[in-house]
Amino acid sequence: MTAFAYRDGVLCAESLPLEEIAAAVGTPAYVYSSSDVETAYRDFAEALGGLPATICYAVKANGNQALIATLGRLGAGADVVSEGELRRALAAGIPAEKIVFAGVGKTAQELAFALDRNILQFNVESLPELELLNRIALEKGRQAPVALRINPNVDAGTHAHISTGRSDHKFGIDIDQAPAIFARARDLAGISLQGIAVHIGSQLLDLAPYRAAFARLVALYREFQAAGYPLRRLDLGGGLGIAYKGEQTPDLRAYAGVVREATAGLDADLIFEPGRLLVGNAGVLLTRVIYLKEGSSRRYAIVDAAMNDLIRPMLYEAWHEILPAREAAPGAAAAPVDIVGPICETTDTFARGRPLPPLAAGDLLTICSAGAYSAVMSSSYNARLPAPEVLVRGDRFAVVRPRLDHEALIAQDRMPDWLDGESPRQMARPGG
Ligand SMILES: *Cc1c(COP(=O)(O)O)cnc(C)c1O
Repeated sequence: MTAFAYRDGVLCAESLPLEEIAAAVGTPAYVYSSSDVETAYRDFAEALGGLPATICYAVKANGNQALIATLGRLGAGADVVSEGELRRALAAGIPAEKIVFAGVGKTAQELAFALDRNILQFNVESLPELELLNRIALEKGRQAPVALRINPNVDAGTHAHISTGRSDHKFGIDIDQAPAIFARARDLAGISLQGIAVHIGSQLLDLAPYRAAFARLVALYREFQAAGYPLRRLDLGGGLGIAYKGEQTPDLRAYAGVVREATAGLDADLIFEPGRLLVGNAGVLLTRVIYLKEGSSRRYAIVDAAMNDLIRPMLYEAWHEILPAREAAPGAAAAPVDIVGPICETTDTFARGRPLPPLAAGDLLTICSAGAYSAVMSSSYNARLPAPEVLVRGDRFAVVRPRLDHEALIAQDRMPDWLDGESPRQMARPGG
């Protein structure tokens, strides 16, 4: 997290004190650093230097259009998993010919929409999906560009909830079934089979699973090319891990080395789908302490962010660094405290027994590494307003998603006609 650092005892995003942003937009709020996103992209692109690579940002990590556009300006394409993400990527200026559509459950509507937009590639994950896409393409007098996503049966060695590459996971086409499905694809006039794809999981900290998966994928690619299939693209997925707690993360050059080794002499364009790597450490969640509570056995800091804003700790048992926005006085003793949100669920806990300097109500805290799989997973549980998102560039910031107000949130519901006019809310509405 290079852009989030203390300056004169004050935690800043680039050159802006986080206190200033919190004062302007309120808390909880997400803050992202443009320079961190750009640096992450450039580091990855540089490591891949010389390879015939397109980097398709996995939009599901953070779908804010300002971030997609920041990456798009550097040359990134997009990897999307729904029509909504596809629309976002297009709206943010990503050209359709750099967009890959992945996901196990694409609907007919989504396939048709993507086909009409002329995207680069559909990563197809099952035979029924292939048949459906073929029918839709034929109806439109078109051919759909397809890569088959292969499940290589490799254990990614990551958290069970974000591991996707074993044959008992729902993703991809089992590598043993690939020959039959390839043969079927060749017979489908609406399908242009162009490549194969793999994605074995997320937050990988070890290169060995990549090495194993890529070897299997490349062997398959060579086999099918030799059999006369006109393959030209190999999609190697995403999944590179980041440091949440000082973990040793894969060296990007070493990762690129694994790719070079696996694909040496191969006639294929490469696609990469990093998500977390590009944005995970480029964002934080700001929150203020509401109350300090001394229990008989534990101390609690109850903060104004909650699991509806950041569900990773409860969903993946994830650990997030928590830093006070004002640096503790030198020598201030740290004491263990539970950082918890206001929601009526015991799992609404960001940290247990975390050693932190003395806190007071009103203090601003920074939950780090909240750029990926955080705002995109937020909800309005407990009728809480989803937190706004802020993008910093140097000494400037912009609110790139404002906080909804309560009226807007409440107005999303509709009364059925048998209650309309009868409900206290309707009757209380000024002017009827
Ligand atoms: C989630 C996902 C990614 C991105 O994963 P990260 O771990 O964020 O890099 C890439 N490709 C596919 C198919 C995915 O489902």
